[in-house]
Amino acid sequence: MLSNSIEYLKGVGPQKALTLQSEAGIFVYNDLLNYFPFRYVDRSKFFKINEIDSDAAYVQAKGVIGKVEIINMTRGQRMVVEFFDDTGSIELVWFKGIQFLRTQIVTGKAFIAFGKPNFFKGKKSIPHPELTDPLDPKYQIDNSLQPIYPSTEKLTKKGLHTKGFENLVRVLLPLLTGKIKECFPQKIISQYGLLNREEAFFNIHLPQTQELLQKALFRLKFEELFFIQMQLLRIKAGRENTIKGNVFKTVGSVFNEFYSNYLPFPLTNAQKRVLKEIRKDVGSGKQMNRLLQGDVGSGKTIVGLLSILIGIDNGYQAAFMAPTEILAQQHFQGISEYLENTQINVALLTGSTKVAARREIHQQLENGELHILIGTHALIEDKVKFKNLGMVIIDEQHRFGVAQRAKLWKKNAIPPHVLVMTATPIPRTLAMTLYGDLDVSIIDELPPGRKSIKTIHKFDANRLRVNGFIKEEIEKGRQVYIVYPLIEESEKLDYKDLMDGYESICRAFPMPTYNVSIVHGRMKPKDKEFEMNRFVKGETQIMVATTVIEVGVNVPNASIMIIESAERFGLSQLHQLRGRVGRGAEQSYCVLITSFKLSKEAKLRMETMVRTNNGFEIADVDLKLRGPGDIMGTRQSGILDLKIADLGKDGRILQLARQVAFEVLNEDYNLQKPENLLLREHFKSFIKGRPNWSKIS
Ligand code: ADP
Ligand code: MG
Repeated sequence: MLSNSIEYLKGVGPQKALTLQSEAGIFVYNDLLNYFPFRYVDRSKFFKINEIDSDAAYVQAKGVIGKVEIINMTRGQRMVVEFFDDTGSIELVWFKGIQFLRTQIVTGKAFIAFGKPNFFKGKKSIPHPELTDPLDPKYQIDNSLQPIYPSTEKLTKKGLHTKGFENLVRVLLPLLTGKIKECFPQKIISQYGLLNREEAFFNIHLPQTQELLQKALFRLKFEELFFIQMQLLRIKAGRENTIKGNVFKTVGSVFNEFYSNYLPFPLTNAQKRVLKEIRKDVGSGKQMNRLLQGDVGSGKTIVGLLSILIGIDNGYQAAFMAPTEILAQQHFQGISEYLENTQINVALLTGSTKVAARREIHQQLENGELHILIGTHALIEDKVKFKNLGMVIIDEQHRFGVAQRAKLWKKNAIPPHVLVMTATPIPRTLAMTLYGDLDVSIIDELPPGRKSIKTIHKFDANRLRVNGFIKEEIEKGRQVYIVYPLIEESEKLDYKDLMDGYESICRAFPMPTYNVSIVHGRMKPKDKEFEMNRFVKGETQIMVATTVIEVGVNVPNASIMIIESAERFGLSQLHQLRGRVGRGAEQSYCVLITSFKLSKEAKLRMETMVRTNNGFEIADVDLKLRGPGDIMGTRQSGILDLKIADLGKDGRILQLARQVAFEVLNEDYNLQKPENLLLREHFKSFIKGRPNWSKIS
């Protein structure tokens, strides 16, 4: 029954079926069953007409029809109906179906109008409202909680607006009585007070009460997260049980010599702790898969390098991967400097490495001469073969999910240890889903002597004062970043803003007293690098840039970050940008410049930035504001295509789901016990529809 073609559901037919397929991915009954409402309207609540405001989503009001007008337009007609109660009036507007409606809608008749209010030129109206006769007996038996289904223009044209979906669901559900199989063992259901599966599906569509709706939501979110966690935990456990890891037996002279002679600073306690965690992993005989989270500037690079040295001590090579060329270069420079007086060989491989150099690198990798290869994605190309790759460090790669990591493992009989480093503090809930198969380490301490960055929010109008402030700081010998937004969709305009900004900065900070660099995405890599280097060397005091400088660049003397049109940046981006300063011993500042008019959300973003430097706190606000799909480009990963759960809000359910999945697997890893039979069947079919990670185990 669940796999019946949707075409045969009463009220669908071949035409609608096609639209349902292409627009909503609904092919069979089961797809419709899983097409959930995104909100519910309490139909026992009525608005007074003067209470209807522009924030209301769906409203319902009792009233009486006043004047009815039919207005001819260049194309078609518009029917405008006055609808009033004792508090005021609102316009009901139709563009379609007018011939029929005008026979029903007569002045003086009472109706209940339901719909989404609109404000046009200060006038309230409800376009295409649903009208019900308050005396209609059908209205009385209607649920008080009405589901609102997502729809599209094409669906709406086929009569599949929210009400159309509701009608189909009302046909579907009775057919499915007794057909929706439970998937959890009774023990779990009773222990966590879950609604049974059928009841949950029925109530998610047509909730009988508010309480049942809440229980249905809980049950279905739990179920969704449970199976994802079960999959991730099985990947993790499967790997740990079946995949051997290179054993780094000793910490030898390479590590020790570096540690005592060349380490430029004592490690922080957090760095030491993480290093211990890593040493334990790499000595265990299992493959390390660890996520290292630490705020910008917390010193992750050196931890990565020290881990690499342990590998070299045991005869292994290492790869160090960065998301951009500039960042790869910086890592290469930094690490080469650290290792200057050692016998360790390091090379850089990026898209722009010349053929001859590339060939040499390939050769030295294969004969083992080269110990560390730093680079961009070019590192995971098939042509790049290591003699004995033992450790992979992946820096700032949020898109580098399970599947891509699996690619690295293909290259070796025994897969290398993997350390994923990120400064984008990922909220726990998100990390658990995106990186649920990894162990997590956290550096929660900045190196000593850092002064916390002061963040200030200023409006455009204060620009002159900001310029004055910049001059004072430059006089003290500091350097300044000025960042402009550059968004693909409005690239042309943004680019113009950047150039206009650059010109006015050059006027405000004239040569020869001041020198200004500029870097943006349209420049050739060579020119970019040239300008970057001038700034790094201190030849220029001001760096005007787009977000190309977002990750990685390290100029300790730069202590001021000015962010133009800051309202256009997301929170995590603002935080990343701010992390470019505060790297030296001086007091650093971040100035957020916005226009005077700000949306509620933008205000909250600015306030959050001013209030806190804590990346995790910022990430949490960000997740709540934007939802997980938008954060860190995780949309493509597929793993976050959640049907019903919301990682921003359902953290506790996620935690519970993970814990329960863990307990089940712990007792019965292969789901062989009779009570887990249903679970097993369901899990198998769940896996089929998931991104293909089969290479992993
Ligand atoms: P991130 O975690 O953002 O990658 P980096 O590894 O780039 O941070 O380190 C930021 C800066 O802090 C670098 O200049 C680095 O040399 C310095 N640093 C790292 N660890 C320490 C430490 N324990 N004491 C002092 N400075 C440190
Ligand atoms: Mg870094």
